[in-house]
Amino acid sequence: MTEHNKEQNGHDARKFATKLLHFGSEIDSATGASSVPIYQASTFHHEDVFNPPVHDYSRSGNPTRQALEDYIALLEGGVRGFAYSSGMAAISSTFMMLSAGDHMIVTEDVYGGTYRLLTSILNRHGIESTFVDMTDLDQVKAALKPNTKAVYMETPSNPTLKITDIAAVTAWAKEHDLLTMLDNTFMTPYYQRPIEHGVDIVLHSATKFLGGHSDVLAGLAVARTPSIGKALKQLQNGLGTVLGVQESWLLMRGMKTLQARMNHSEQSAAVLAAWLNGRPDIERVYYPGLLDHPGREIHEKQSTGYGAVVSFDVGSGERAKQVLNKVRIPLVAVSLGAVESILSYPAMMSHAAMPAEVRQERGITDGLLRFSVGLEDIDDLIADLDQALKG
Ligand SMILES: *Cc1c(COP(=O)(O)O)cnc(C)c1O
Repeated sequence: MTEHNKEQNGHDARKFATKLLHFGSEIDSATGASSVPIYQASTFHHEDVFNPPVHDYSRSGNPTRQALEDYIALLEGGVRGFAYSSGMAAISSTFMMLSAGDHMIVTEDVYGGTYRLLTSILNRHGIESTFVDMTDLDQVKAALKPNTKAVYMETPSNPTLKITDIAAVTAWAKEHDLLTMLDNTFMTPYYQRPIEHGVDIVLHSATKFLGGHSDVLAGLAVARTPSIGKALKQLQNGLGTVLGVQESWLLMRGMKTLQARMNHSEQSAAVLAAWLNGRPDIERVYYPGLLDHPGREIHEKQSTGYGAVVSFDVGSGERAKQVLNKVRIPLVAVSLGAVESILSYPAMMSHAAMPAEVRQERGITDGLLRFSVGLEDIDDLIADLDQALKG
């Protein structure tokens, strides 16, 4: 979003729900069409070669993708947004801000794909990382090295929903001139806007809540400052990790209902978490909205909601498999954040690559299930889970 656009439309002052529908490009200026046109074009005609058009080649810029990029920048409160072919494309492109010889501090329960990227690809290119428990600021501080250049956060984390104090980590990072990045996939800008707490780059797997319908793979990044935006632009164009125009359009289609979907799912997630918490046959329930959730107070300081993901431990791998086999409503799958509920089994899905003892240490036990609550009636979801738990 350019400064000019912001001032002209006054979009920044509006409430989030209004921004979701009126983000600046929702009406096609050429025809008045009620959605952003899909500019299915790879290149753009130069009417006058000395006066090139705004967009000249779709990897470098396309009006449909640009509309999405301005949209996410507005929602996150940043200066510039970027759309990529997947969440991992957003994250890997952003990591190219670092150079060989640099070191970064990363949250230990980072998304599995990010862990794989850091430990099996970027390490070969001379970018090293230290994984720490980011709920403990002393551990973050202790990981600082002379070549540390960045800190990477994810809060709440996956799947045990641990909370990092965004402002505290960011303030410390700034003292040491470190770039701060945060994966905001679980909260979305509706509940958490890390740039307001000083974070430099916000990242998303838009495949999840932003897209919201399990039908599009996409990633987004938002820069806090123009110079970071410029660097990300150069990387996105240079690496060519851009999102296609069909997906850009589909993602904007999904994002318009973000607040309505999140509100419904969160309400249901709170009911589900409380119901699970009251059952003697459930070992543990992880949900930031529960009174005894560690980090709840910090979470409430930096977020306006608790989200739609509830993890719980049914006691054993046997029982987890029984539940997975017996549920009839949720999709049993990898992924989260959709209109339909999704039940996943971290030990065998997202965290299968992690050594068993590391998994145990981090609470990713064989009995742990992760429930991403969709838009079904909560009574039906609970009745279904109840029959699955009974076996
Ligand atoms: C899914 C996910 C990613 C990766 O996104 P893709 O779109 O699958 O590439 C990154 N971070 C988090 C927290 C995720 O849930």
